[in-house]
Amino acid sequence: MNVEATAYHEAGHAVMTAACNRKIHSATIIPRDDAHGSVEHENPLRGIKLKFNNGYPARLRAEDAVMICLAGGIAQLRAFPRLLRRWHTHTDYVRAVEIARSICGSPDEATAFLKWLDLRMRSILDVRWFQVEAVAAALVERKRLTGAEIASLMTAALPSRQHVLRPSRAILLFRG
Ligand SMILES: [Zn+2]
Repeated sequence: MNVEATAYHEAGHAVMTAACNRKIHSATIIPRDDAHGSVEHENPLRGIKLKFNNGYPARLRAEDAVMICLAGGIAQLRAFPRLLRRWHTHTDYVRAVEIARSICGSPDEATAFLKWLDLRMRSILDVRWFQVEAVAAALVERKRLTGAEIASLMTAALPSRQHVLRPSRAILLFRG
């Protein structure tokens, strides 16, 4: 996977983590083990076992975790549609499915839950795309960013003209 595609992938995970109000520790496009890059962030599911605790607060946390997983591949796909290969997103997708199956009562429900979260995650990435671009560009240049650097890049980034917000979408942008 090329460096720019990896940068968009990790930027997608990072921006979605911030959108879910979860703390980001760092992001990197320096390969390690079998990963091209990574984002270290607060785990929304920390301290809960979904199979035994799937009430409302746990479900909200599961939603965040699934969207953070799925956002890497979708950001990469948007930036470089021709470069996406199944194995680039396999680990993320397997994790998202595992979370959905843990919290849902049936395979059909898990499929619908994942589909809705995929649509919701794409809506959030739509309004935050300029932030994904800013974080991806900085990752290409610096290879590794701290959570504080990512936060200030996201704050400093300005929407391009195509991203002028409609009020309903602004809610998504300012959630976190
Ligand atoms: Zn990923």
